[in-house]
Amino acid sequence: MGSESYYDVLGVSRNATETEIKKAYRNLAKKYHPDVCKEADAEEKFKSINEAYSVLSDESKRRQYDQLGHENFTNASKGNYSGAGGAGFNADFSGFGDIFDFFGGGSRRHSGPRQGDDTLMRIQITLADAVFGVQKEIEVMHTESCPDCDGTGSSTKKTTTCRKCNGTGQVKQIRNSIFGQMVTQSVCPDCGGRGKIPESPCRKCNGTGKTKVRRKVSVNIPAGIDSGMRLRMEGYGEAGDPGAPNGDLYIEVYVISNPLFDREGDNLVTQYEISPAQAVLGCEVEIETIDKKKVALKIPAGINYGTRLRIQGEGVRRRGSYGSLLVRIVIGTPKKISGKERELYEKILAIENGSESADSEPKEKDKKKRGFFK
Ligand SMILES: [Zn+2]
Ligand SMILES: [Zn+2]
Repeated sequence: MGSESYYDVLGVSRNATETEIKKAYRNLAKKYHPDVCKEADAEEKFKSINEAYSVLSDESKRRQYDQLGHENFTNASKGNYSGAGGAGFNADFSGFGDIFDFFGGGSRRHSGPRQGDDTLMRIQITLADAVFGVQKEIEVMHTESCPDCDGTGSSTKKTTTCRKCNGTGQVKQIRNSIFGQMVTQSVCPDCGGRGKIPESPCRKCNGTGKTKVRRKVSVNIPAGIDSGMRLRMEGYGEAGDPGAPNGDLYIEVYVISNPLFDREGDNLVTQYEISPAQAVLGCEVEIETIDKKKVALKIPAGINYGTRLRIQGEGVRRRGSYGSLLVRIVIGTPKKISGKERELYEKILAIENGSESADSEPKEKDKKKRGFFK
């Protein structure tokens, strides 16, 4: 199911209208709602339908999805990632804050100790860091199990069975929804789904069993990472109930654009300007790589404007392989030239026009011709 396109999931065409998408969603959601549908994979299907709808019903997400394709979008850009163009992020990246609930709780159906929620955090790195990989210390704000009560929420570390849900952690509710009247299970509001009530609420955590903590985490950002990719740090999300695992922390990377280098897959592209004479005659120049190394580059005689020359091994490193640095050669026409240069250019022009012989250059004749061109 995971590799099926969102359009296929909803059974609509790629250019379906908003209304068509909404209609398809309603029909499918009604059919596969886990409280209604008895098919074994109803819950999975229902999730996929909702996931597809959440993207296709949102104009900007749909555009991104169409641009990136299914695989890239789902692997790299869940959440609010706004494409590789860079303009998408207007959140403040000065710090490393910006954590928010990602998958959210509340919709889990099983009872008993609940796993902690996953969190998503975004960080900004330079292109050089993306090329070489980097170790970053980030500050994470998340919940951890309360140390005073060992996560029980009770100062005595003892709990009693919740009376509202009889310890199941779930309550049944009758809801009126767009699908009609439905009986749904939801998390017990008294015990928050834990089925237990603290005997005497812990003062440090107010009986929740969890405390908010700011933590420094060292993240290994691998070489070759690109904007929108996510790193998963197992167990660094929100604390789970006692006996249940923590959620995971997802770190979404945003690569700041570099004024001198563009990225094209595993290659880097830079530009180098040469003079018309260098272009005609060829030359050897020094190119600065992204790690500020100087590399010699031979520019062949007669090169055309815009030609890309390859320097192997100076691109993006990824899994042991190295991309190239592509140097795009541009020819800069001088705006100001000296008298001597003018003389020479005029001579070249005269030769190009056939009004002067390319082989010999008799001095007297040359002087006369120059007058003509002025
Ligand atoms: Zn309860
Ligand atoms: Zn506590």
